[in-house]
Amino acid sequence: LAEPVADRQFTNTLEERIDQICESVERLVSTEIEARPGGLRGVLHYIYDAARAQEDRPLTRAAAEALIDACKQKAGPVIVSTGWVIDFWFPAGEICGMTGAAALARAITLGLDHQVLFLGEDQVIPVFAAVCGACEMRVYTPERRKELPNVVLSDNFPTEDAAARECATRLLDEVDPAAIITIEKCSPNRHGIYHSGRGRDMTATSAKISVLVEEARKRGVLTVGIGDLGNEIGFGKIRETVEEHIPRGAECACPCRGGIASDVATDILVVASSSSRGGYGVEAALATLLGRPDVMHDGRTEERMIVAAAQAGAMDSYRVAPATSDGHGVDKHFSAALVELLRQLVNTRDQDFGMYKARG
Ligand SMILES: [Zn+2]
Repeated sequence: LAEPVADRQFTNTLEERIDQICESVERLVSTEIEARPGGLRGVLHYIYDAARAQEDRPLTRAAAEALIDACKQKAGPVIVSTGWVIDFWFPAGEICGMTGAAALARAITLGLDHQVLFLGEDQVIPVFAAVCGACEMRVYTPERRKELPNVVLSDNFPTEDAAARECATRLLDEVDPAAIITIEKCSPNRHGIYHSGRGRDMTATSAKISVLVEEARKRGVLTVGIGDLGNEIGFGKIRETVEEHIPRGAECACPCRGGIASDVATDILVVASSSSRGGYGVEAALATLLGRPDVMHDGRTEERMIVAAAQAGAMDSYRVAPATSDGHGVDKHFSAALVELLRQLVNTRDQDFGMYKARG
């Protein structure tokens, strides 16, 4: 007569498994596994909790579900953007964000059968192509857009405001994207200044993708922002939390005195312990929702992507050498292990060992 309790305990429907997997994915990618410098260790939960409070489900799942819907409704490409260019430190950008962008491009073309248009600064275009090569994808020029419907294209996006506005309008009119995903993409603060994590002005070298995001939002195009600190596009959604809890959030190191906190919101904000990990979380949620384990890249590919990014000149923002780390000072082997754990989670979606059924 205690049966009903036991039944409830052992219920294991597909929907319940997806829910549990996405929660676990989210915990993995929002765990601080690195020694974050500059007083950043231990503060992630503030911005993660603030973002999560605005969704009724894991952030990675919310992003993946919205992308699946958007790609069902619109044929246009998914725009993916990253690039963190600082003349002296990161002349070819950062590794963090770049491997996540390539992994998402792979997942979207493979799992959603959609074209991806990558946008970034001139300096990061070859890095993106190298990282895509490492996960076995060719990158095409934007002229091939109409003839190759489900490949990855890349193009530069202006760092000048006026040119960025013109380019944004043209893209939204002509290309009509299904969605825009920004990952580790610098955002203006409330004074329009773009800041590094240390609070320095990097306005001059940043592609003004925020102009595209704000115009896209006016037109009802889905926007997803992925970041790990608060100065990235998307964190305008939780600006007050960034200002209160993130070092330099409210006070930068440049004359604007406006703090590094982003003033640009996206429909969905994904917060993770590194931006690339946030991208992998969305990728794992997509693979889980689609029931397509092949949509999640594997550990060996992860190692190749990190090496390719480093060889193409992208920098780890936490340490100068060795450079074959994930962008947050985490050795490529550990990053590969994290990717393998995500794959393990995705694989459990359709696993049912049957022993609980037998009890029934
Ligand atoms: Zn400033």
